[in-house]
Amino acid sequence: MLGSAFQILRVEGIPIKVHWTFGFFFLWIGYIGNKAGLSRQGIITLGIFALVLFVCVVLHELGHALTARRFGVQTKDIIISPIGGVARLYHMPEKPAQELIIAIAGPAVNFVIAIILGVYLYLFTVQGLMPVGDPEKIFDVSSNFLPALFWLNTALIVFNLIPAFPMDGGRILRSLLSMRWGRKIATRWASLMGQLLASAFIAYGLIKGDYILVFIGVFVFLSAAGEYRMVAAEVLLQTGVVRDVLRSNYTAIYQDDLMHHAIDLHSRGPEKDFIVIDQWGQIQGVLHEEFIEDAKKKSDDQAPVKEYMSPSYESISQQLSLKDVLLLFQKKGYSIVPVFNTEKMVGVVDRKGLNHYLTARTSFWQNWTRK
Ligand SMILES: [Zn+2]
Repeated sequence: MLGSAFQILRVEGIPIKVHWTFGFFFLWIGYIGNKAGLSRQGIITLGIFALVLFVCVVLHELGHALTARRFGVQTKDIIISPIGGVARLYHMPEKPAQELIIAIAGPAVNFVIAIILGVYLYLFTVQGLMPVGDPEKIFDVSSNFLPALFWLNTALIVFNLIPAFPMDGGRILRSLLSMRWGRKIATRWASLMGQLLASAFIAYGLIKGDYILVFIGVFVFLSAAGEYRMVAAEVLLQTGVVRDVLRSNYTAIYQDDLMHHAIDLHSRGPEKDFIVIDQWGQIQGVLHEEFIEDAKKKSDDQAPVKEYMSPSYESISQQLSLKDVLLLFQKKGYSIVPVFNTEKMVGVVDRKGLNHYLTARTSFWQNWTRK
């Protein structure tokens, strides 16, 4: 979804990037202006208005990013696309109150802008808050610029406060629900709201032939589901233990066996990584899938397993959290680890099994009925 984005400036050390599809936004503006029959001056004003809108969106995202920084959460970058901006934080604070404040900070920026514009327009201009003239051609009247900006910021506040993922309102809802029901259940509800809303966008867009709305709907739907999957995985990693993913049915390979045997097992069965033992059943190392593929590529199937295996391995206990197992896989590059219960080996955990478990247990619909 994100693809390539170009950095245009840095604010407070945070890269501000523009997604390439933002170009379409200007084409669209030109198209709208033309269709409405704006004068050349009007189209130029509309273009400038689009740039100011861009600035408002950047300020909104900076509101999130700089507030997050106060809680010690850094921002990777801010990406602006035709359907809005996103401040990509390195992580979300798990304290609901902090997430709440970070989520509110974005719309709060637009609120401040709207208040300043509103007060100025109301007290110091003859025209006041409302644009004048033909509603199709408001940008042909230059005094409409600030009222339009006022209403646009108001619209940004309202849109962002819709209580559904991935809007800020969804985060606000999630943090409020989290305080009472925990993060996972809260996220599930906020995601469901997002998906219902997205479905309504898509249906309405299709009926009215408004394909931009359909596009936004699809984006909202996918984001809402993705957010849930991420949080569910986080929770699962924290609460799950090795016992949940333990595979007690495993094949061990003797270190004096030939690679031929390993290649055979690898291509025939579901097992892809193996524990290597000696004739007394003591673990000597592990044979990762990559090693087997390597031997296969070199047609080295007559080599003994001990030439290909890695002697470094780590055994873990059944009570270890899944988060620690994942870290072990990521940091040490293991793809399989033996599991011990006191002195006795009771099974293995492999990377594939863990990934499979996480994918299956974090699917939005499958999980709906589970606690
Ligand atoms: Zn926001």
